[in-house]
Amino acid sequence: MPDKYSAVWVSHSSMGDFLKCPRSYYLHNMYKDPKTGHKVSIVNPHMSLGVAVHEVLEGLADFPADERMNRDLLALYEAGWKKVTGKKGGFTSEEEEAEFKARGIVMLEKVASDPRFLVNKCIKLPQDKMPCNFYLSEEHNIILNGLVDWIEYLPETDSLHIVDFKTGKVEEKDGSLQLPIYLLLCDALHKKRKVTKASYWYLESDKVVEKELPHLDKAREDVLAVAMKVKEARDTAKRDGFEKTFVCPQGAYNLETKENGCNNCRPYEFILSGNPLVEFVGVGGFSQDMYVLKK
Ligand code: SF4
Repeated sequence: MPDKYSAVWVSHSSMGDFLKCPRSYYLHNMYKDPKTGHKVSIVNPHMSLGVAVHEVLEGLADFPADERMNRDLLALYEAGWKKVTGKKGGFTSEEEEAEFKARGIVMLEKVASDPRFLVNKCIKLPQDKMPCNFYLSEEHNIILNGLVDWIEYLPETDSLHIVDFKTGKVEEKDGSLQLPIYLLLCDALHKKRKVTKASYWYLESDKVVEKELPHLDKAREDVLAVAMKVKEARDTAKRDGFEKTFVCPQGAYNLETKENGCNNCRPYEFILSGNPLVEFVGVGGFSQDMYVLKK
């Protein structure tokens, strides 16, 4: 019987970090502050806006289809915003916070005026305290985990439509592992029906973009290939040490000359070196120490 606690857990974001750079992966997903034993995270306004809007929309799946849009989306947003307000949401001024909060209001007003498939039947994948997960490879002890934002039930074909809400302005690149991962999660955790449709819903422009679904075998092959690289790097790190394995290809950030590295890792390097340019703002929902980058 494989041991879930010793397994390598991979997700869209952790594999995305790994593909960006190994050190980025290490800092975001493995490093733990020796004093607190917690992982560390930089919070920023974009992330907080996404969290607050997603919470409102994903929460609608808990209600029957014909009652969902009777809910006051803006009141739910207002209540949820309290969790991200101020420094703990990465906001460095009231003006900045007001600007981001207003963007979320506009998104939800657009959803309320045209909720599209949110008024149709949906399904939820089984989940406990952890995000939805399954063994991508028992042989290699790798677990894939993630949360699919919305899964519409399509009665005409008795199949599923996966939807990803986007609060950012940048469109998901072709070749992203996001849809392959969602497809694999649905296939593993909802055996009764197949996924036949996938869409990104860009909430700011209120544009729904349907994407071609990858073939299941190809999705598994592509996701497993990256997951295996992650596992190999972690195994190498156990042997050779983390600092030697997860190195920045541009050379480590130099605190004095402010050279090398890039913005992806720099705030995390500040945390590791105790630089006052980052400020501790609290402990997050997954027991991670949260910091904000000062301006
Ligand atoms: S700082 Fe280095 S390791 Fe981090 S993302 Fe940039 S180039 Fe990659």
